[in-house]
This record gives sequence, structure tokens and C-alpha cells, in this order.
Amino acid sequence: MQSSKIVVITGSGRGIGATTAELFAEHGYAICLNYKSQAAPANELAEKLRSQGAKCIVVQADVAQEDDVVRLFEQVDKELGPVSVLVNNAGILKQQMRLEDMTAERINTILINNVTSAFLCAREAVKRMSFKYDGQGGSIINVSSGAAKTGSPNEYVDYAASKAAMDAMTRGLSLEVATQGIRVNGVRPGLIYTDMHADGGEPGRVDRLKEKIPMQRGGEPIEIAEAIYWLASDKASFATGTNIDLMGGL
Ligand code: NAP
Repeated sequence: MQSSKIVVITGSGRGIGATTAELFAEHGYAICLNYKSQAAPANELAEKLRSQGAKCIVVQADVAQEDDVVRLFEQVDKELGPVSVLVNNAGILKQQMRLEDMTAERINTILINNVTSAFLCAREAVKRMSFKYDGQGGSIINVSSGAAKTGSPNEYVDYAASKAAMDAMTRGLSLEVATQGIRVNGVRPGLIYTDMHADGGEPGRVDRLKEKIPMQRGGEPIEIAEAIYWLASDKASFATGTNIDLMGGL
């Protein structure tokens, strides 16, 4: 059972991370927003949350870099207090292509941004949450992807594999810390309306593919944020090592 309400959400200047921050703020959490390169949207969101009464800091950090991650969590310690919820949300994808055309540089970029980042942030969170280190417990939520199950052929098998690695971490870490007051879970969003698809070279990807979704529509960031919030809350007190698929039936 956690006593403080302090959440770190990586990659929260826009998209699912930003919506998740708004939801946690509504529920009384102090928020650490994080961005890598786009300061303006993160700062605008922070202003909005503060004007609504939330405590909120913004930390620039490339969470694929160990030093940046250590600095981020130290800043949270100093300015907010001990983290009680970590949402490993930061993630990237690259231009759509088949595996046979991928370079090592591209594959490694995907892996460090989507996998190494989540491991490093989880490490810092465990050191602060775990009963083993006199912490108060907490919750870690990994934002995976339905791609971990579909494999994303002809688009980004590297991205899909990075999310499958995240799922393995969800399971393995959850077992390591199950008696230390920390629950570790994940969500697997399907096709969600955010700017991420433009980074893959196809801004209209959700609409192109929505007819293949049993519910015949793309998802909204809030539909992911609500599941993240539930997993973080005490209402999910017996859930650990599991994933919630949020894919409209896919
Ligand atoms: P998004 O709009 O592209 O936002 C991702 C955010 O992550 C960006 O604000 C970016 O910050 C940040 N980021 C990326 N690498 C980072 C790093 N190394 N350090 C710190 N921040 C970093 O994406 P989204 O659609 O909201 O996706 C959020 C998560 O959901 C991702 O993990 C994604 O894989 C997952 N997901 C999304 C979908 C979907 O359909 N949208 C589906 C399944 C899973 P900067 O802009 O500052 O670089």
C-alpha cells in the first residue's frame, strides 16, 4: 500500500503520456512530466496542471541515457519526494519498412529508446519503492503495444520486438519485487490517435487500418490512461505481472 501520490510519467509532453498526466493530476497526484526534445508542449501542460491546482515539475531527460535517468529521479526526490508510481510510457518508432531493409543503427535506436529506457527507469523506481530499501511500495506500469503480439510485419518488426521485451520485463520484474510492495503491470494499446504514427511515415495510419479492428474504430489516449490509472491504484491491488490489452478486440 503506497502512502505518497507521486507519479513519474516518461515521454509525457504529448500523446498518451500527456493524457495520463492529466488524469493522475485530477486524482490528486504530484506529477513529474518528462520529455526528450520537445519542451514547449510539456511546459504548456505543466502550466495547465498547475493552474488546476496540481503540483507538477517538468524534467528534460533522454530516458535511454543512464545519467539522464539517474538525474531525473534525483530531481523528483528533491522536488516532489519519493516516487510511488512510474509509468514507462516513452517510446519511439521509425519509418515503416521490412526487416530485410533495417540497419543495425535503426534497430539499436529502437531498442535503447523502448527497452533500455524502461529498464533504467524501473531500476531507479524499485530502489525508491521497495520495502527492501525502506520504501513505501508502489506501482510500475509499462506501456507496451499490441504490436508485441502481432509482430507488425512490413511496418516495424523492431518496434514490435521491443514491446515484447518490455512484456518480458513486466513479468520478470513483477516476480522479483512481488513481496517488496511493488506491483508491475503493463498495457498493450492497439491503434490510438496520436502523433506517433506520423513518425512512422503515415499520419493517417489509424484511419487506414480501423476497419480491421473488430470495434471498427481507433482508440483515444484517455482509453489507455484510464487503464494505466486503474493499474496504479489500490483497486488493482491483486494485479501484478499482467497486461491489459486495449485494442478494440484485435
Ligand atoms: P508520441 O505521441 O510519439 O509520444 C511519445 C513521447 O515519448 C514523446 O513526447 C517523446 O518526447 C517521448 N520520448 C521518446 N523517446 C524518449 C526518450 N528517450 N526520453 C524521453 N522521452 C522520450 O507517442 P504515443 O502514441 O503517445 O505513445 C506513447 C506510448 O504508447 C509509446 O510507448 C508507444 O510505443 C505506445 N503505444 C502507442 C500506440 C499508438 O497507436 N499511438 C499504440 C501502442 C503503443 P519528445 O517529443 O520530447 O521527443
